[in-house]
Amino acid sequence: MFEAFRKWRRNRILANSAIPDELWRGALEALPFLAIYTEPELARLRERVVLFLSDKSIVPASGFEVTPLMRAMIAIQACVLVLNLDHRFYDGWENVIVYPDEFIANLEYEDDAGVVHRREEPLAGEAMPGGPVVLSWPDVEASADWSATGMNLVIHEFAHKIDMKNGEANGFPPLPPEMPRRGWQRTMAEAYAEFHRRVEKGEDTAIDPYAAESPAEFFAVLSEVFFADPTLLRAEYPKVYELFTQFYRQDPASRAELLLEQ
Ligand SMILES: [Zn+2]
Repeated sequence: MFEAFRKWRRNRILANSAIPDELWRGALEALPFLAIYTEPELARLRERVVLFLSDKSIVPASGFEVTPLMRAMIAIQACVLVLNLDHRFYDGWENVIVYPDEFIANLEYEDDAGVVHRREEPLAGEAMPGGPVVLSWPDVEASADWSATGMNLVIHEFAHKIDMKNGEANGFPPLPPEMPRRGWQRTMAEAYAEFHRRVEKGEDTAIDPYAAESPAEFFAVLSEVFFADPTLLRAEYPKVYELFTQFYRQDPASRAELLLEQ
């Protein structure tokens, strides 16, 4: 019964909240990394985006105005991660807050001696456990084209959200039953240790050195690379790439190659 109701509700939303063609095309053009997706995949992505927008509120902060194009661009990038995953990955929170610029976050942390420090730091994005995803629009816009900045802010923050689905962000998202936990742990820990060493040595890395910050950041940054520059991740960390194809149920590098052959 519930399943039937869910289907009915889903179809109703898809029928009533469709994204106009022009807006959809404009958003895709602004996100060049999506060029590797096939028409049927993009059609499925579009459905996901409609459902996402009906489920979540994308709200402005500080007198900012969020245009339909901004909403579509944010939703598309959020939905790319879960295109082949259970829609419930993003359950349990409601808002995406968009700032006109970097925003100040009040960070509180305890040092080894147990002293609590407060630090105010301007941030481009933040994902809060059980709470909103916060984004600075200029940073979303700048990182929409991976080739320009080598980063993708929206994918980064939503990878944290996926990671947080089973507790705090630690680089260990909930795995499907067919993926052994030990394999994930070993592959990610080995790659993280290796990357961390390279960054410590001051090596110039093709992947954003911010990934060496913690296992949680490693997962989020490598998720960005997986979607926005998949052949780079496959070349740098083939085992992680393989693991991500199983986890996200996508193989973007092979599609990127097909596109190059055409
Ligand atoms: Zn992060």
